[in-house]
Amino acid sequence: MIDPEDQPLREAAASKLFSGPVDFLLSAPQLQFLPEPLVPEIAFCGRSNVGKSSLLNALTGRRAIARASVTPGRTQELNFFDVGRPEDEDPLPLFRLVDMPGYGFAKAPVKVVEKWKSLVKSYLRGRQVLSRTLVLVDSRHGLKQVDRDMMTMLDEAAVSYRIVLTKTDKIKASELAAVAEKTAAEAKKHVAAYPDIHLTSAEKGMGIAALRVAVLWPMPWVRAGREERAAFEGQIKQIHKRDRVGS
Ligand code: GDP
Repeated sequence: MIDPEDQPLREAAASKLFSGPVDFLLSAPQLQFLPEPLVPEIAFCGRSNVGKSSLLNALTGRRAIARASVTPGRTQELNFFDVGRPEDEDPLPLFRLVDMPGYGFAKAPVKVVEKWKSLVKSYLRGRQVLSRTLVLVDSRHGLKQVDRDMMTMLDEAAVSYRIVLTKTDKIKASELAAVAEKTAAEAKKHVAAYPDIHLTSAEKGMGIAALRVAVLWPMPWVRAGREERAAFEGQIKQIHKRDRVGS
């Protein structure tokens, strides 16, 4: 559980890490084209049209980083984006965002689906640097069979994941509460799913800062600079000290 007292600081730190330069690295149609596993990766999965590109843009505060993924021919590939640090001389980024192919597209030929499944499965199973995995679900529709299949695939690959409800601005608060509750109940039945469900709107910015914290926290896995981490931890300590004095 995140101490609510620390949340604004964590959000500021996470937002800073996401605000560095973001560069499209490559598109991998097959495993042999994956980048060298030297940097932590955060993978984004979801049905086509779930709002994946919009969420990637919102997290990084960009307008169109995920444009490459809508280029014809790239929708069935794993698209990698480097998130770096401004004026960093280190050639390696802090972490990478991995835009997974959208699933559940209507009338896809069986061969295409099989190819997709095998690429995704092998990536998820064998990627040592895979640090966080997000399964995006449209809040208007809730979990569909294809999402459940994806969750089962992740359970079997022993990859833990968080469910993110998207486009929450499109439904009423009461409907959102109901879909969140239902999704959380289903998540409990999946061994590798986090119990907490994230509610987001890329359009309105809701839940974006909290999601940045959730994916980056705890930070030591990020290739953040030592000074950045030390400064951040110093701030947290100060808050704890202040609270102790105040109580
Ligand atoms: P992708 O296919 O999963 O990458 O989905 P996109 O990000 O391209 O979004 C699909 C559609 O949903 C687009 O028309 C977006 O403008 C819309 N969309 C995405 N996120 C949101 C959101 O948070 N709120 C609203 N109202 N629309 C959204």
